[in-house]
Parts: sequence; C-alpha cells; structure tokens
Amino acid sequence: SKEDGRGVFRFYTAELRAAASFGVQLEEDLRDALEKGELSMAYQPLVDPLDNRAKCFEALMRWDHPQRGRISPAAFIPIAERSDLILHLGEWALRQACKDAEQWPDDVRVAVNVSARQFMQANMPKLVASALSSSGIKASRLTLEVTESVFIGGVEAVDEIFARLDRLGVRLAMDDFGTGYSSLGYLKRAPFKKIKIDQSFVRGCTESGDTNPAIISAVVALARALKMETVAEGVEAMDELELVTQRGANLVQGYIYSPPLEQHKILENFAKAEWIFKPDG
Ligand code: C2E
Ligand code: CA
Ligand code: CA
Ligand code: CA
Repeated sequence: SKEDGRGVFRFYTAELRAAASFGVQLEEDLRDALEKGELSMAYQPLVDPLDNRAKCFEALMRWDHPQRGRISPAAFIPIAERSDLILHLGEWALRQACKDAEQWPDDVRVAVNVSARQFMQANMPKLVASALSSSGIKASRLTLEVTESVFIGGVEAVDEIFARLDRLGVRLAMDDFGTGYSSLGYLKRAPFKKIKIDQSFVRGCTESGDTNPAIISAVVALARALKMETVAEGVEAMDELELVTQRGANLVQGYIYSPPLEQHKILENFAKAEWIFKPDG
C-alpha cells in the first residue's frame, strides 16, 4: 500500500542520513588526522617467488582514530576522494614513503598508491619530483600504482602526465587490473612496467572448476607480450602461491609472505639482512 511505501522511504532516508553524517564526520576527523599525526604508512613486500627476496614494498596508509580505533583505508580513502582532501593525503603519503624508502637498501623499491583525482592534477609530476629530491631516492626506485579509473576522461587527458612521469624515470604500475574501466588500448599507450592481478582473481583460484587460473594465465601472457611484469596480489595459501608461480607471475604480494609492516619492523629486518620472506601458508 501507499503507507507501506512511505514507511520504507522514511526508513531509507534515515539510514542514508546516518550514513552521510558518518561520512561527513569522518571527513572532518580525517582533515585533522594529518596534523595530529594519526596517519602512518605500513609496507608490504612484493616478493620474487624464485628466491623469496623482497624486491619492492607497497606503501599502505593507516589511520588510528582516537575514538574509533584503526579505520581501513578501504573506508576512508573513498571519503577523502570526494574532495581535495585526497590531494593532501596523497602528497603526505608520497613524501612519507620516499623518506622511509631512503633508509632501505638501494636496490629495494617502494610503490605508492595514487588516486585518479591526484594523478590527473597538472602539478602531479612536479610533486613527484619534489618528493624524490627532498628524500634523495632515485626516481627508478619509486613506482606509482594507479587504477584503471585514471582513464575515465580518456587516454588523451593523462597522456602528458604519463609522458612527464616517464621522463622523470619513475615506474608506473596498473593496479587492480581487470576490475575497473578496462581497455587494452590504454595498456599499450601508457608506459606501465607492471600489472597487478587483482586479488579477486587470485583468491580461491585453486578450487576445482574455477576460471581464475585461465584469467591469471591470460594476464601474464598479455603482460609478457607488452614487456611488463606481473604481480599476483592477495596470495594467502601455499597452493595459490604454487599456482600463480607456475602460471608465470613475476612477483607475489600477500599474507603468505607478510602482512603490511611498520617502518621500524622493516628496518629491523634490513638490519639483520633479512630481505628474504619465507612463505607461510
Ligand atoms: P590496494 O592498493 O589493492 O592494496 C592491497 C590491499 O590488499 C591492502 O589493503 C593490503 O593490506 C591487502 N592485502 C594484501 N595481501 C593480502 C592478502 O593476502 N589477503 C587479504 N585479504 N588482503 C591482502 P589495505 O591496506 O586495507 O588497503 C585497501 C585499499 O586502500 C588499497 O588497495 C588502496 O586502494 C587504498 N589505499 C591504501 N593506502 C593508500 C594510499 O596511500 N593512497 C591511496 N590513494 N589509496 C590507498
Ligand atoms: Ca595498490
Ligand atoms: Ca591492488
Ligand atoms: Ca584494491
């Protein structure tokens, strides 16, 4: 009946209002979090499965909210992306990650996630150059991870940015490949060094009848043809590690090797010359 309909409507608006005000509050808290030092970076190794050596660490943002505790970036990054706040968070993340990587061995790279909104800023390459020079790390040690959403405005809109970053000498990785707004043409035009195979293709890939092994093989073949490396993300179990290695993934990232670690933990490992991560599944 009409009345029921209105009841349902009222219920939904109340829920939506609650969700919206939660978001607004979180956004306000996030604006302060940077200044208050509530944000930090954690680093997860990308390991070569042939020798178990960490070749790179991905920088992942962490937020310890004084009341709510640790909040996942999967929750707060989308909120930051609704406004210019993501630009401030992104700049901080980039500078912090470069600074931290400066203390690692010279042959270990760092990968930083860059939101599409930030990537499309005309001053992006300048910001990257500045983060490199103030930290002192070589451009070739820095990888920027972007998702397919950077192509939302067409490839021409970001062509110039890709070219300038390429000239700087930083590396580019296509993150979460196959989950977004994909077009193979973009892979050809943009100077990616690495394709990250999304966790959704990796998780459960050893169950019988699963089509994900075929997708993993196809992405590896595509990457090889384009002279790019592949990273299998979210590898948790030994049989998954065996499968992605056998299918030719160049690097493996996942709990099987290590969760994201704090900088002090990474430095402890390096001090003991432990860049080897043993699979543990
Ligand atoms: P992502 O870039 O795809 O990062 C990989 C995520 O997978 C991380 O989640 C990591 O902790 C998680 N992960 C790694 N191995 C495993 C595994 O074996 N099993 C499972 N279940 N998960 C695994 P996290 O740190 O919660 O980050 C979530 C997302 O938030 C990231 O996904 C990225 O999109 C975004 N993000 C994190 N830090 C930043 C940042 O500094 N800037 C931007 N723009 N986005 C960020
Ligand atoms: Ca990433
Ligand atoms: Ca990813
Ligand atoms: Ca993701």
